[in-house]
Parts: sequence; structure tokens; C-alpha cells
Amino acid sequence: MPPVTSPIVIARRGVMLVLSSPSGAGKSTLARLLLDKHPEIHLSVSVTTRERRPSEVDGIHYHFIKRERFERLRDTGDLLESAEVHGNFYGTPREPVEAALSAGRDVLFDIDYQGTLQLYDKMRSDIVGVFILPPSAVELKTRLERRAEDASGVIEKRLKNARTEIAHWDHYDYVLVNQDLDTTFRSLEAILIAERLRRERMIGLPPIIERLDQELSDLTA
Ligand code: 5GP
Repeated sequence: MPPVTSPIVIARRGVMLVLSSPSGAGKSTLARLLLDKHPEIHLSVSVTTRERRPSEVDGIHYHFIKRERFERLRDTGDLLESAEVHGNFYGTPREPVEAALSAGRDVLFDIDYQGTLQLYDKMRSDIVGVFILPPSAVELKTRLERRAEDASGVIEKRLKNARTEIAHWDHYDYVLVNQDLDTTFRSLEAILIAERLRRERMIGLPPIIERLDQELSDLTA
């Protein structure tokens, strides 16, 4: 009988998976699909000064806060990154991200390019940046209109801002054109699975190598 061996679990650092895209490219849908299939991933819930949309729930989609509170959080260092997007302020609370990472969990961020660049400055090697592109401008407009939760002035503003957002595509590790949701989702999942396996993230490898080396040395003595 072969010896009974317990399964080898290799400790690894959590992935900080950052998703960015112009508004309406399908990023939130992809994030939801990923969280449904991988409930072990922690979603970073941002604070924002934007008005809540009818379909949104405070504490789930965002923490909706007043401008004064936002400024206090930012000025006391309680936000990992922050930015003004479409005339509203957004930021990532620091504490929940640090808690999730130190528990070895992956963390998903839905933030813009300004926030991504700030996170790169602080923790580049932990971050995997994925940029989602719409297949065309017409498709982007249609998706924003279909959402029908924003006034038409807001949609115009978001379309204008799409050019600025897209101009930063080359800061990202991966760029996906979201033509077909299933295909894009499979690509995103493949990125996550491969990035989890990167050697640098596998902090539990050295003791395994040492053990193997010792076993081989004993076997060949
Ligand atoms: P929306 O108002 O449509 O929910 O989001 C507008 C934009 O703000 C999106 O591109 C979204 O990724 C970005 N955003 C949401 N939360 C944050 C955040 O905490 N930080 C930064 N930098 N951008 C955010």
C-alpha cells in the first residue's frame, strides 16, 4: 500500500484584482458573476458622495456618504485610494482590504484608472489590473441607456469621460474586449486562476522545496 499523504495546501498571498472600464462596458456584471462563482473573494465596497441609484443598496454597492465625511476619511488616511469621477468622489476604505488580505483572501476592486494608479504606487506586485473595453461606442451608449437609471445629461457626461478612461488602457496587465459576456467572463476567471498560481504569490513554496530536497537527499544517501 502506498503511504497515506494529506493533501498539500500551499499558502499564498491574496490577489488584488482591479477591474476598470468606462461606465457601461459590463464591469459590474462581470464582478457580480465572479463573486457569485467565487464567494471566497472579498469585494471592496467603496465610499462615494454620488446619489444612490434606485436599484442600489447602501453598504452593498457603496457606502453612500456626505462630502464632509469623505474628506475626513481621506485626510485621516482611512482610504487606500480616492478620486473624483464624473463630478463625484469615490474611495476605497483601507481597513477591510487589509483585513481580507492578511486572512489570505483575494480582493476585488471596481475602481477607475486614477485609483488603480494610486494602488500601483503602494502595492504593485500584489495587484492584477484588468481593463474592460466595450466592443464599440454605439454599444456603450446603448448599454448606458438600457440601464435607464441615469438622466440623459449624466449619460452624455459618462460617454465623454469614456475617452479619458480608455486612454489609460495601457496601464493594465490585461485588456478584455467585452463582446460576449460569457467569453469575457471565462477570460477573467482564467486570469484570476493563473495569477493565483504565480510563483511570487506562493509564499508556502520554500518549506515544500526544503522538504523535497531533504527527502531526495535521504533517498539517495
Ligand atoms: P458609478 O458611479 O457608475 O458607480 O462609478 C463610476 C466610476 O467610479 C466607475 O468607473 C467606478 O469603477 C469608479 N469607482 C467606484 N468606486 C471607486 C473607488 O473607490 N475609487 C475610484 N478611484 N474609483 C471608483
